[in-house]
Amino acid sequence: MLNIVLFGPPGSGKGTQSELIVKKYGLLHLSTGDLLRKHLGKGTDLGKLAQKYMDQGNLVPDAVVIKMVEDRIATELTAKGFIFDGFPRTVNQAKALDQMLSDYDLSITTMLSLEVEFSELRTRLRERGKTSGRKDDQDDAKIENRIKVYNQETIPVAKYYKHQQKYVSIKGVGSIESIFQLITYELDGLK
Ligand code: ADP
Repeated sequence: MLNIVLFGPPGSGKGTQSELIVKKYGLLHLSTGDLLRKHLGKGTDLGKLAQKYMDQGNLVPDAVVIKMVEDRIATELTAKGFIFDGFPRTVNQAKALDQMLSDYDLSITTMLSLEVEFSELRTRLRERGKTSGRKDDQDDAKIENRIKVYNQETIPVAKYYKHQQKYVSIKGVGSIESIFQLITYELDGLK
């Protein structure tokens, strides 16, 4: 299995690049943001719990997100591999992911980190807010909070994968296609 962590700050293009990776490599896209938004939309108990965190741009508690990912992996074991998008976002989540994969004799193959400057991220998120309907994209204070949370809680995850020699930096600025080319170069080199 080819199991990728697609890492990067909010607005770095993880969702966009995931779609292209899915098309070319046939992997299963597991986006915790998308899964959580589905719960919100359906009004499940999990969705009600998650909403207050998401609306403010804070992280949903680890236990909730980890359980959600565990359940999804368990039902998709026949997949060619996974792209984890927006997960892990804390070191605790990264450790839990390693543990749950190892239970199935699996592991993360590589971590691709999309590098985009914060000034560019702010512009992209505000633009997305005009059409996405996402409350967390429509308010500067919430955008700033997400960047702050990213710096405090998520950046350490990069170090975690650096220690495992799985960290690959990808310049996340340029055309969608040119960024995807950098990604395919890395992934094709793994074979
Ligand atoms: P973005 O990366 O653009 O901020 P996401 O769709 O990945 O958007 O996530 C939206 C929100 O969902 C986050 O701000 C957070 O509240 C919640 N969320 C998503 N993934 C996680 C996670 N792994 N751990 C905790 N909260 C998460």
